[in-house]
Amino acid sequence: MQIKGLFKKNIHKNKINNLDSSNINVPDGLYTKCPVCSKIILTEDMYLNNCVCPECGYYMKLDARTRISMVVDKNTFSEWDTNIEERIHVNTQVMRRKSRILKEKQILMRQ
Ligand SMILES: [Zn+2]
Repeated sequence: MQIKGLFKKNIHKNKINNLDSSNINVPDGLYTKCPVCSKIILTEDMYLNNCVCPECGYYMKLDARTRISMVVDKNTFSEWDTNIEERIHVNTQVMRRKSRILKEKQILMRQ
C-alpha cells in the first residue's frame, strides 16, 4: 500500500465525523427502514412495490384501509355495517382486569 492511500482514508473519516446531524434535513416519512434487512427505502418506492422490501422481500405492516385500497378497484369498495359497536367477550374482560391487577402489584413490589 502506498503512503498516499493511508492519508486519503483519514481525510474521509474526518469528513464523516464533521457531519452534523442537525444540518441534515430529511422530512419524516420520506424513507422507511426494512425491519429485516435494515435497508433504507424511499417510502414512495416501497408503496409502488406494494409495500414489499425490494432487497429481502419482507412484507411491511399495513393498516386495514391501506390493504383494502391495494386489493380492490378504485371506487368499488363500500364498507358495510359501520355502526356496529364493539363487544368485548367476558373472558377478555376478566383477563384485562387480571392483567391490570398484576401490573399494579408489580409496581407496588418495585417500591
Ligand atoms: Zn428488507
